[in-house]
Amino acid sequence: MSHILTVINSIILITTCFFFLILGLSSFNEKEYRAAVIAAIFFALNGIFWIFFLSAPDAFQGVNIFIVFILVIFGLASFIQFFPGKTLLRDTLDAEQYDERNNMFARNNIQHHPELMATYYALHPENQSVDRQIHQKPEFGEKEQLYHDTYTAPCYKAAFEYLEKSIPLSADQPAPKKIAIDPLQFCRTITDLSKFYGACDVGFLKLLPHHFYSHKGRHAKGWGDKTDQTHKTAITLVVPMRVEMIKKAPTSCVLQESAQKYVEAAKISNILAGYIRQFGYQARAHNDANYDTLCVPIAVESGLGELGRMGLLMHRVHGPCVRLATVTTNLELPDSCLLKPLYMEEFCKICKKCADNCPSGSITHGKEPLSRNIRHWSIHQEKCFSYWKTIGSDCGLCISVCPYTKPDALIHKFVRFYISRNILNQKIALFMDDLLYGRYKKIVKTNPDKIFKQGQQK
Ligand code: SF4
Ligand code: SF4
Repeated sequence: MSHILTVINSIILITTCFFFLILGLSSFNEKEYRAAVIAAIFFALNGIFWIFFLSAPDAFQGVNIFIVFILVIFGLASFIQFFPGKTLLRDTLDAEQYDERNNMFARNNIQHHPELMATYYALHPENQSVDRQIHQKPEFGEKEQLYHDTYTAPCYKAAFEYLEKSIPLSADQPAPKKIAIDPLQFCRTITDLSKFYGACDVGFLKLLPHHFYSHKGRHAKGWGDKTDQTHKTAITLVVPMRVEMIKKAPTSCVLQESAQKYVEAAKISNILAGYIRQFGYQARAHNDANYDTLCVPIAVESGLGELGRMGLLMHRVHGPCVRLATVTTNLELPDSCLLKPLYMEEFCKICKKCADNCPSGSITHGKEPLSRNIRHWSIHQEKCFSYWKTIGSDCGLCISVCPYTKPDALIHKFVRFYISRNILNQKIALFMDDLLYGRYKKIVKTNPDKIFKQGQQK
């Protein structure tokens, strides 16, 4: 018996110390020094604990067996998936369409078009007062903003100017002759092509009315027009953002990273739409400030992830640290059937870290609000956008503190799997995340040096 116990103690010593070693090294590599120090302390204490039992007198055998027993029970229980009463799909049957004119970017833009303002505030007088206050704040790139930087701000403007000028590339006539395709083979090739050009994940979904905006609102041209809702399939492209850049939230690093990834997403979606048109089918890319569809619900319903408390897609690997683009086509393609529940939304119910850290109070601590006849997480967009205009960055603090915003390293893959098992695991994971990385993030008042170098360090 004593010999068996020695073997078991040795196995536990080696595996647990190995875990803390990997955690420490990963954290050090990710420049998460607090987590690295805590992992080193756990490594040492854990080693001392098990070495003690390896050399302890027989009198401690009973305690030793009890601890091993508890550990085995905990270990086995952590593999059991148990989320009672959780339905995997949101009921969207009665969902209303969203009018893009209500989007905060659209409402900010109309300040330069008095005729649009008159029409919009006649329809929505309840938004006039808050919008007036937002209109009075400096625009992105102006020097009054907290994180304004003379040398880097114009880059963000250049990137969005590029995006605006590339809008004509998003739609065109298909080739005159249709080429017959095998839908499954076509989906596989679209996935490979998208990844070849830089997407990390791709999803397919049959389009439903609530996936479309009802009216256009982002540009004065076409403002108030009904969107084109004739396409049948949506292809979602996921582009990961660099965690190192997002961890610098809310400084301009986030603005530059977002802009760069919107450019990437636009490039990939424009090429993919052009590729589909070569086969004689209609295709249209939807990318930043150029949408007929809502990327987030489409991505969620494609099974690419779940909807997070902060109202963004929580991608199954990269969490909210991604940007999206969509390509729609009149071709019918099979849904991607990626739906493998990760129970991220269940985790959001207990986590609330984004809500605790949001400097503008835009994220609810409560239950999913009801809007457009669907109960789903959404934020107070007026407060959030107003804060963006104050600081001159798209903030991203919520993304940066989210426990899912981690590099795709072995240790984080393990944690994502662990969280997807049951509520007890989720509580332990949240406790550990707070301990290792801290619950609250300090907001720095200045940009880091060499903004464009931040994302190049690895
Ligand atoms: S920070 Fe927590 S509550 Fe917020 S989206 Fe991420 S997991 Fe959900
Ligand atoms: S981007 Fe910033 S202000 Fe907006 S919801 Fe996230 S944390 Fe709050």
